[in-house]
Amino acid sequence: MQIFKSVIATAALVLSVSCSNKTNQDKTVLAVSIEPQRQILEQLAGPGFDVVTILGQGADPENFDPSTSQRLALDNADIYFPTGVLPFEKTLKESLGSNTAYVPTIGETELIYGNHGHGHGTEACGHHHEMAVDPHYWSSFEGAGNIASIMYKTLSEEYPDIKDGLTERYTQFNDSLAELRDKVSETLGKAKRRTFAVWHPSLSYFAREFALEQLPLGVEGKDLSAKALAEAIDHAKADSVEVFFFQPGIDSRQAEIMSQGIGSRLVSVNLLDYFWQDQLKLIADEIAGAQ
Ligand SMILES: [Zn+2]
Repeated sequence: MQIFKSVIATAALVLSVSCSNKTNQDKTVLAVSIEPQRQILEQLAGPGFDVVTILGQGADPENFDPSTSQRLALDNADIYFPTGVLPFEKTLKESLGSNTAYVPTIGETELIYGNHGHGHGTEACGHHHEMAVDPHYWSSFEGAGNIASIMYKTLSEEYPDIKDGLTERYTQFNDSLAELRDKVSETLGKAKRRTFAVWHPSLSYFAREFALEQLPLGVEGKDLSAKALAEAIDHAKADSVEVFFFQPGIDSRQAEIMSQGIGSRLVSVNLLDYFWQDQLKLIADEIAGAQ
């Protein structure tokens, strides 16, 4: 509950300066790191707020360097809700003005460590690294629910005047989240194979949530040698992989060659899409072979 305590500690400060943090339309500005967080925050906060996303469209969250204007956008925000696990957020936190509260949205999510390679890890440097955190917790119902929970608690403390509408919207959010989760769970219940391939392990939390097996075949930030490519194809074939999730613009185009070699269905997904629920539903449908 360390995070929650720091929220309470900063609440008084934020309230005392919040009148300066307004846009032309007199809306209070809030900031998030990624689009799925914006979708959740907009639903909860309602019409009196403007929500700004720091990560640019199509940018790779794990190798992102915010521009000066993106940094400045944060100065107008009452609260910045980072994911708490992305490298660029550490830089932003250091330059954050005292008018902006910093509230990570991990909440109760149990983070996954050690299965998330970045191509600059242990094997290249020859010395031991701390096990890297897998940041992709937002791509799961549990993660999304915890993001909403942190946002709800924070908003109710900072803006007590919107509490009634906020609580109603939070209840609606949780109801629709539970409904979709049930649907996805039912869909995945029909899946004959529980293993799927990805270039980059961006679905570890989703896999944990539904007892699926994610097979990451690529290396972030670089292409594979012909030998490594052939080995990955053999591995996937041995596991009878039928579906391969690919994030255009982030994952290597080698995923296409690899998927052809495996004979799998290559499915484009965008796990940083504003409509993240549609993406999770699509992934479940594809795993279950329902399309
Ligand atoms: Zn990643």
